[in-house]
Amino acid sequence: MTVRTRMAPSPTGEYHIGHIRTLLYNYALARQQNGQFIIRIEDTDQKRLVPGATEAILQVIKDYGLSWDEGPDIGGPYQPYIQTDRLPIYQRHIQELLAKEKVYYCFCTPDRLAKMHQDQKAQKQLPKYDRHCLHLNPQEIQTNLDNNVPYVIRLKVPDNEDIIFTDAIRGTIKINTTEIDDQVLIKSDGIPTYHFAAAVDDHLMNITHILRGDEWISSTPKAILIYRYFGWELPVFAHLPVFLDPSGQGKMSKRKGTVSARSFLDDGYLPEALLNFLMLLGWNPGTNQEIFSLEEFVKIFSLEHVHKKQPIFDRAKLDYLNGLYLRQLSDNEYISRLQPFIPQADTQTLKALCPLIKERSSTLKSTAQMIAFLFTDIQADPKLFLSDKITPPIAKAMVQAMVTIMKQISDPKDTAKLQSQCLDSIKNNNWKTGDFFMVLRVAITGSRFTPPIIESLAFLSKEKIIARLQALEANL
Ligand code: GLU
Repeated sequence: MTVRTRMAPSPTGEYHIGHIRTLLYNYALARQQNGQFIIRIEDTDQKRLVPGATEAILQVIKDYGLSWDEGPDIGGPYQPYIQTDRLPIYQRHIQELLAKEKVYYCFCTPDRLAKMHQDQKAQKQLPKYDRHCLHLNPQEIQTNLDNNVPYVIRLKVPDNEDIIFTDAIRGTIKINTTEIDDQVLIKSDGIPTYHFAAAVDDHLMNITHILRGDEWISSTPKAILIYRYFGWELPVFAHLPVFLDPSGQGKMSKRKGTVSARSFLDDGYLPEALLNFLMLLGWNPGTNQEIFSLEEFVKIFSLEHVHKKQPIFDRAKLDYLNGLYLRQLSDNEYISRLQPFIPQADTQTLKALCPLIKERSSTLKSTAQMIAFLFTDIQADPKLFLSDKITPPIAKAMVQAMVTIMKQISDPKDTAKLQSQCLDSIKNNNWKTGDFFMVLRVAITGSRFTPPIIESLAFLSKEKIIARLQALEANL
């Protein structure tokens, strides 16, 4: 058997970081067996389509360093891979189920359905279709069709039957059909719903393993019924636990911080670090090893080592891993990754800055912010250091001392000399070393978090340093 897995994005918005994790596991499962990993675009929910979303999703997957063997852009033996290009296929298949009486026409008006749901809500019942149209006789159906009465086609769900399946991660799952709605499979515009299109495609595309987020568990019995009615062999189902918010309280969500896959790249996380982080979010190798290349992961991934427990999305761990990956890059590679985050910086200067910043990097964006003061004007806010101990007169004296040192020194790149003159001045005035350098740091950079300040001065002209010191002095 050739393992074939798929990821089936709906182009209804941005791709979530959790989707990339699910995709990564699907990718690994297929590639390790020399199978195929497929991308299929599920765009049947036309009302929720977002223009450009398909292209954006495909691009972000590529930008994470992942690829696919068949898909909408590259085609493949089971094309097309966009569901709205496959409508005749669903039409053919629904005819088969109509002939087998496994599905039925429903002519209920939206008003009737709304009233029905209202009543069910009032009586605290599960919102489910009441099967009003289940027993229409063939003449009634034909008359309605002849009169062009709008209709949908619904799945005939058996009464009170336990649908049991083995989930490769969660074990046996049992859902009784009383909990399952007679799902609409074809909508009144003739377009299938997700449930029908996905089942038909998964079968026709020979998908062997359906690995997806566990919010889809409740849909699985519907897919199983569709497979059964056609007489098809079931694929393996495996449902991955979704991420928990770092607070440990509830699902990770937009409200609590970034979730879009793109935004992590925009924030300056390396794709390889993100993938490594995602590998460990729901899976463990059974050893203490934490650092994996994509190639290594593909070799050793297995569904047996996927956890049932919801993993916590630990951003501090991501920062740590990203720092680790950044430090492993050669200086040239590091600079080429950093440069897009600080386009105004020239390669030469970045190269010289490497020893000061590489060790301190956690993300490329924060590193770029940390050195932006070298390339743009700054605003130094005395509030960043003023306290009971660093009062305005003290800060002023410190700034003046630094101006004097700068004016006297012939070369601001003579770091050792600068350092010793600063230390002398601190000693003579009985200042605290940390206080002095904080005032200097804020004056020059506008921030409290920077590369070592004396070494950084070497990247600015004497005039600029003095001008910044005097600008702060004027504000004290
Ligand atoms: N189109 C569904 C989604 O947006 C796919 C669900 C599945 O994998 O079956 O996630």
